[in-house]
Amino acid sequence: MNMRDSEAVAAQLVEKGYSLAGSEHSADVILLNTCSVRDMAEQKAIGKMRNLAAEKRKFRPGVVLGFMGCMAQSRGKELLDQLPDLDLVVGTQKFHRTAEYITRILEQRDGAICDVAEEIGSEATIREHLLNGKDVKKSATAFVSIMQGCNQHCTFCIVPDTRGKERSRTIPDIVAECRELVDRGVREITLLGQIVNQYGRREFGVENGKTAFVRLLEAVHEVEGLERIRFTSPHPKGYGVDLIQAYVELPKLCESAHFPVQSGSDRILKRMHRQYDVKRFFSLVDQLREAQSGMGITTDIIVGFPGETEEDFERTLDLVRKVRFDNAYVFKYSPRKNTPAATMEQQIETEVIEQRHARLLGQVNEIAAEINQQYEGRTVQVLVEGESRRNTERMMGRTRSNKIVIFEGKERHRGQLMDLRIVRCGSFTLYGDPAIVNLESSCTLA
Ligand code: SAH
Repeated sequence: MNMRDSEAVAAQLVEKGYSLAGSEHSADVILLNTCSVRDMAEQKAIGKMRNLAAEKRKFRPGVVLGFMGCMAQSRGKELLDQLPDLDLVVGTQKFHRTAEYITRILEQRDGAICDVAEEIGSEATIREHLLNGKDVKKSATAFVSIMQGCNQHCTFCIVPDTRGKERSRTIPDIVAECRELVDRGVREITLLGQIVNQYGRREFGVENGKTAFVRLLEAVHEVEGLERIRFTSPHPKGYGVDLIQAYVELPKLCESAHFPVQSGSDRILKRMHRQYDVKRFFSLVDQLREAQSGMGITTDIIVGFPGETEEDFERTLDLVRKVRFDNAYVFKYSPRKNTPAATMEQQIETEVIEQRHARLLGQVNEIAAEINQQYEGRTVQVLVEGESRRNTERMMGRTRSNKIVIFEGKERHRGQLMDLRIVRCGSFTLYGDPAIVNLESSCTLA
């Protein structure tokens, strides 16, 4: 979501006549978009800004420095007191005002600006796309923000505070954005929201047994030229049969789900205010796999939530072994300002959190590698996204189940759907060969 917000701000700046700098060292304006989900992310952003501020004082007095996003929202003016060289603090409902504020700072130089107010309608302002950055290469994939905020109030989570109440854009507005993206060469769209399946539930409600989110999926599915649809992240609460059925009925909807579970212990799930139990989570996973057998499922898990006993943790390990996730993001619990969990009794010692994190990660990685191994020898369809990050001589694409595949390809493959034979598997990456598939099909023809 932050990547998407940053891209929208960059695109808005480009539209106003600014251009993207090759690096922070040559930039006139440096904006750091921030995350508040864990303390580590905030500390990193502050550390980075301190370094930039020191550089500004010594060598670059004219450079404009700004914080955007969740930490900007939750700390506001306090950041200006802490870092006097800072020029701009832009909250999560004000991304679209960034260009205007920068112009004001550059032209008037009349002091720092901080805007973290709420704004009606701000959910529909993350709209512009950069797509091809500073080069001319086309993006095959894009993110689309369909809603802002969250009303779930998980006891560990700062997001309802930093992103405000749940607000949804309209279906026609979202579909229009998707259509424009496809016109510009995009072939895969990922719909974004804190809890996507809660999309429009208050504004647009249920019609003919279908939630607003499923109706949105159907409307986006109609966009001609769009090949693939994904969304992230859903929540087990309100995950109905209509959404399971969408995986059967909508061929563009990729068989992949990022489905945060957070814990394998019902006791901890209750303390987290997640409003589902392990049984319900298992049942949803079963239904998803029944709907689409090749379903790739990833998750988020927090270890060391206050009160988590060894037995609770074992239950999480057990859940991971039973579900067999394709991958999982394992987070160390981090107490957040004004959240109920931060003041709960039985906070867990750092050492215990570290150990549980390492144990769980070991288990997750072992299973991920085993699942990847099963891809060896299979032919998969990938959408080619661009050069491999590690080796720019190679190209990278993703399977419908969201596995990264590296292969010997050329720039002309970018944006294409290709069949690849998987010849080798790492823990996180698959390696494919298009030649083998072509060889086979020409043999068949012969
Ligand atoms: N709205 C999304 C979550 C967004 S935050 C959802 O409910 O699925 C992404 C992940 O960060 C969460 O799923 C959770 O695993 C992790 N997270 C959130 N708050 C955290 C905290 N206080 N400490 C550690 N991890 C946290």
